[in-house]
Amino acid sequence: MSIKLNSHAFAGNPLRSKTPKRHDPLSSSSAFESLKTHLLQNPENHTPLKSPLFKVLPFRRGRPLASSSVTGDDVVPSWHLGWISLPDCKGILGKCGVQLNEESLVYLGSRAEEGVVYWAIDVSEEGGLVPELSSRQLCFVELRTLMVATDWADSLAMGELAVAGHARALLQWHNLSRFCGHCGEKTVPKEAGRRKQCSNELCKKSIYPRVDPVVIMLVIDRENDRALLSKQSRFVPRMWTCLAGFVEPGESLEEAVRRETYEETSIEVGEVVYHSSQPWPVGPSSIPCQLMVGFFAYAKSLDINVDKEELEDAQWHGREDVKKALAFAEYKKAQRRAAAKVDQICKGVKKGHSLSADFIVESGKLAPMFIPGPFAIAHHLISAWVNHHPPTGAEAELKQHSSFISKL
Ligand SMILES: [Zn+2]
Repeated sequence: MSIKLNSHAFAGNPLRSKTPKRHDPLSSSSAFESLKTHLLQNPENHTPLKSPLFKVLPFRRGRPLASSSVTGDDVVPSWHLGWISLPDCKGILGKCGVQLNEESLVYLGSRAEEGVVYWAIDVSEEGGLVPELSSRQLCFVELRTLMVATDWADSLAMGELAVAGHARALLQWHNLSRFCGHCGEKTVPKEAGRRKQCSNELCKKSIYPRVDPVVIMLVIDRENDRALLSKQSRFVPRMWTCLAGFVEPGESLEEAVRRETYEETSIEVGEVVYHSSQPWPVGPSSIPCQLMVGFFAYAKSLDINVDKEELEDAQWHGREDVKKALAFAEYKKAQRRAAAKVDQICKGVKKGHSLSADFIVESGKLAPMFIPGPFAIAHHLISAWVNHHPPTGAEAELKQHSSFISKL
């Protein structure tokens, strides 16, 4: 089975595809000025002329507001982000006794064709909002649940997931950077929440959203046509996946691939070939957004010695076994089940659910081994190796060169 994606989950954010120029009404600076005017207004007053439309996405404890619906002949429900208009947001918060101010909104981007600017807001402190939103069938749902529930063949749904991921990463970063790391004073948002600055006049240190690079590699034994997969105890049992690790300061990506592989399995890696990268905003809240950088890594030595503190196990797996594992897990079924779960949550029905239960096969037996779903870059590294021979560096260079020539 091969799943083709236009982009990885959380990549391809449609609101970030073009940055409007500074004086464009949709740019972060112009939109922020109009936002201030909007918030100063009485509800009876008319919207200022030439102002774009504002839509707000509330988040509670890292969970975006979402709705779920069944459209047309489709039997599987699909989730959507719970955008609310700025006056609605102001009104709902007002009911809870909270006055909306422009500094609580974070600019997410715009859609020029619709003349709409999108914002995110963290309402974790405003528990009183939940019943009001539930009455509109809007609910805060874990982003990981939405990720599993997203139909990866639907580019609009993948776009919504990317917007939610970007917004969550920005809001988590705002939470983590409330104080200046240099002098300890409070920080204040600047540039419509795209930067923070220390409030101490003598310091004024600027702080920018952070991204933490992680290398993720499929280690390949070219001679015996095998790939190295690992099992991590904190993962779902029976899940085998690629090795991965954080890049250390002062290290290249290739060095990180070789170091992590050696530290975790004692295998020495020679050639390292880039595959693709994926933003990963669903890690621990202390790391607002990881960037998973995917590689094929060709082994120079084959004896495995697992570091048991890091991994539960690591083994070489032949191509046919991995192919079976990919075919065994019913990713589409898992996605539909998660979509039904989101639908239940939005309609106020909560049920116990575990991720591993998503991979129960038809016969009711558990798969002996499975590979992460198509929402993870590991899936695509593994299936690329299973379905095609990944190019080595020299071949990749040649391919790039020929595609470059073909564009001339
Ligand atoms: Zn400071």
